Amino acid sequence: MLNIILFGPPGAGKGTQSKKIIEKFNLTHISTGDVLRKNIEKRTPLGIEAKKLIDDGNYVTDEMAIEIIHNELSNHNNSNGFIFDGFPRTTFQAEQFSNILSKHGGGDVTLMISIEVDEILLVERLMNRSKESGRPDDRQEDIIKKRIDIYHSRTSCIKDFYKSRGKFESINGNGKIDVIFNRICEVIDKYK
Ligand code: ADP
Repeated sequence: MLNIILFGPPGAGKGTQSKKIIEKFNLTHISTGDVLRKNIEKRTPLGIEAKKLIDDGNYVTDEMAIEIIHNELSNHNNSNGFIFDGFPRTTFQAEQFSNILSKHGGGDVTLMISIEVDEILLVERLMNRSKESGRPDDRQEDIIKKRIDIYHSRTSCIKDFYKSRGKFESINGNGKIDVIFNRICEVIDKYK
């Protein structure tokens, strides 16, 4: 069972790489951001609550994020393994994660792969993405910068959590999509 956390700041390419990884390694993609956007589209109670936070560049609450992970794991209980994209995002979520996985009989976290990208590229990538995706949180430079700041203040420290457990690898996320994908595959092959 492979449980891989794909990690990195907004715009690092987690969604793009996740799609390629799940195909090659036959894994299930769990993206808290995708689930939240679907809920926003359908105007569910979770979506209505989340929209207010996300459009402003804020995180949803830990409780909301954890509930999503529980639901997604329940919905895919025959999976070979998972790519977690956008979770965990806070120290609390990381601390709870092993318990959550074991409740679903899914083993423990195998590895965190952090995609490292030069900061100036991130803003550029997100502003470009907004033209196609229409995501309100990608449209304005100040909201993007706020999300990157929150990533640095609340999220990037989770790297140390997994480093200290011997479950951390970082890869260079600058360059062409396929080149980055090959770097990720080389790392996953070591843990298979
Ligand atoms: P990005 O493209 O910026 O990496 P995502 O698509 O993963 O973002 O998620 C979009 C938004 O959903 C985030 O900016 C955040 O507000 C919210 N979100 C997603 N996952 C979590 C989480 N685990 N904890 C808190 N908020 C989250």
